[in-house]
Amino acid sequence: MHWKIIAKAFSQKRASNLTYEFAAERLRNLSEMLAQRLGEFAGQDDLHSRLLHGVLLKLADESKDQVAEDAGVSPFTVSGLSRRRGKKEKGEDADLMEVFSNFMESLPSMEREFQDTLKTALAEPGLAKRAAAVVDLKGLDRISRDRCLILDGINKLVLRGELFKRPKPASWSCMSCGVTMGLWEQAPEVCPCCQAPQSMIRGGGWGLP
Ligand SMILES: [Zn+2]
Repeated sequence: MHWKIIAKAFSQKRASNLTYEFAAERLRNLSEMLAQRLGEFAGQDDLHSRLLHGVLLKLADESKDQVAEDAGVSPFTVSGLSRRRGKKEKGEDADLMEVFSNFMESLPSMEREFQDTLKTALAEPGLAKRAAAVVDLKGLDRISRDRCLILDGINKLVLRGELFKRPKPASWSCMSCGVTMGLWEQAPEVCPCCQAPQSMIRGGGWGLP
């Protein structure tokens, strides 16, 4: 049944939208740059889920209720889904690095699970072609694979301790006020222009894909 695999991909994209949104919110105090990158993924997943929802509607040849029931989530109420917002509580940011490593383990495996679903979908005769009017399934696969490279790049960068420190002088800029700084090996503790915290400072030449 074509729609079942698309329904699965749809639910996975709804879930990853929430996960990336949550991760972005939790990591904001570590680095605004990371938060924005993950926030972009969240926004893209919102769109991807809506596109897959469109494919689902196109394929639906059973009653809507049945599709919803079998998918374990109603694909017909996307707009009604509530969004979980990262709610900051006292002491919650005690160990941001631990939070970071938890996400860096779970996010790539979430992507790989989605890639497995797409692999099944792409193996279904004629499905990619029928979906193509709404979304390119191979394109979604490429996006997911590229994300794994980006996540891996971020992970290595943080593990090497190079989020705010570089072996060679790098250019730094403040994401809060926009000021660019000189070529320094280390980001300042606070922005020299607006006093924003280091988490707001972005380093150039991250070498991320
Ligand atoms: Zn600033």
